[in-house]
This record gives sequence, structure tokens and C-alpha cells, in this order.
Amino acid sequence: MYFTEFVEFVKKWNKYGKYPPRTAWPEEIVLDRRLWEDIVKLHRFTDSTGYEYESSLFYIERETIISKPLKGNKDNVHAHHSLQVKYIPDNKNYRYERQIILDSRIIQRDYFAPDQLPKQIDSGFLFNMHTHPTHLNNTGSKVYTFFSPTDINSLLKINTLLTGLITDEFWLACKTDRIISKIGEVGEEMLSNITRQSLDDETMLETVLKKEIQNWGLVIYRGDFNRTLKKII
Ligand SMILES: [Zn+2]
Repeated sequence: MYFTEFVEFVKKWNKYGKYPPRTAWPEEIVLDRRLWEDIVKLHRFTDSTGYEYESSLFYIERETIISKPLKGNKDNVHAHHSLQVKYIPDNKNYRYERQIILDSRIIQRDYFAPDQLPKQIDSGFLFNMHTHPTHLNNTGSKVYTFFSPTDINSLLKINTLLTGLITDEFWLACKTDRIISKIGEVGEEMLSNITRQSLDDETMLETVLKKEIQNWGLVIYRGDFNRTLKKII
């Protein structure tokens, strides 16, 4: 599924107010070039500073808007964004100016003829994504950690469909209609175990994901930078 179609999918389910069944989530997602550029940029920021970074995606009509990278600390990053869309009449030129205001800053201005004005402004939040810095494992090699217990619990707590994680690849964790309400102590322990181990231990990672995370009602996508994202569970 191409990104524009995927955005429509997320918008549709958000408006519906429900989480899609596992089978409704596409097998593959092809992100657009612009979004990959932002993902790689966030990854580079984190690699050079050791801090987590976050960006959020919004939509206005059929456009997607991405927030400027927000710096967190070495363990987490909290996202607070606000999006506002204003149509301001410009009577002298018989047109309207549309201002897109993200985090109290005008990030885009467009002009519309009065008859082009939408009856209702269709805008909203799509998903956020954040980076994880590398850690040294016990053999001294650099590894990235998986979604932390906090990452997953905050996804479960809020009313959003999905969240992204940037390591040296890109991950999406998406909710299904079978989503659990919280992961509990055993689940937290399990995520910490994944986190302590190298993500390079592919067999361990896939086994744990298939055995446990699937039972939480989550769909996980994974993909190298600039490649197609594949649904792995
Ligand atoms: Zn995290």
C-alpha cells in the first residue's frame, strides 16, 4: 500500500473510532521519499547527540505535515504538539489565506479563492515517531533497543492507531481490534529483555514477537531505510 493510501486508511479508522482487525492492516507499506528523509534525519540527530528525537505527522485535507524534530533526553522524549488551521479573508485580493500553525508557528501559507474554501476543515493527527540511541551490549558492540515498556504503554493509553520507532531501521507498532489495555509486569519484563538483547539476534526477536506481542493485539512493521515496510506479525 502506498503512503497516500495508507494515510487515508488511518484517517478512515480514526474517524470510525475503532481499531482495524489484524487482516485489514496492509502486508506492506511504501513510505514516500519526503518522509524517509525526515526519518533518516531524526536518526542522524540521535546518532550524533545520543538523545532521543520525536516528530509527529498530521494531515490537512490530502496533505501530510510533519512537525520539526523535538529533542528529548537520553531515555525518552515527550511529544506535545498542536495543529491549527485558519482561513483568513484577504478582501483586497478576493481570496483567503490559509495558515497552517504547528506548535504556535505558522509553517505554511496558501491562498484560496472564496469558492475553493472547504465547508469543514479536515485535519488531524496521524502518528508520531521517535528515535532510540545505541547502547553497548555486554560484548561491547553497539545495539539499538526495541519499543520500551513506556512506549507500548503510552500507545495503549492514548486513542491513536499506531506509533513509529527509528533505530537503524524503521518500525511501526499498530493496534488491532484485539488490543489489550495494558501489558502488565510480565509483558514489561519481556520487552525489557528484548531491549537488553541485541536486535541483531534475529531469531530471538522474531520468536518473541510472534509468541508474545501478537497476543497483545499489535501488528508490527519493519523496514530498512528507504525500503518497503513489511508486516512481520
Ligand atoms: Zn522509546
